[in-house]
Amino acid sequence: MSSHVWCHGPKCHTYSTQDRVRGSKGSKVLRTRKVKQNTDRSWYNPNNFYNYFCSQGCYNEFANKNAQRIIALDPRTEPLETPIQDPKKETTEHQWGSYTRTVINKIDNESNVG
Ligand SMILES: [Zn+2]
Repeated sequence: MSSHVWCHGPKCHTYSTQDRVRGSKGSKVLRTRKVKQNTDRSWYNPNNFYNYFCSQGCYNEFANKNAQRIIALDPRTEPLETPIQDPKKETTEHQWGSYTRTVINKIDNESNVG
């Protein structure tokens, strides 16, 4: 079963695109877009933000409008850290020269995920 939600972009209904035009002659409006919910599909993930926005622009406008409230849901008061092995310099030689890069390897540890 598929359904839809209305795009949560605060200005979605103000953009002049043909697919947003609704209403009868003489009383036309620009209406918020629908976002299809593919709840019958195995890949559907209700936590995917793009199930609630018709575009990147609408998503950005919502996030910018509500940034303080979104951040308040899960405040970050201290930095997170991922343990790594000591970084190593690795030089690669080619016939046309060489380049050196720094190799950084994470220490595998399930508790570091998330
Ligand atoms: Zn939208």
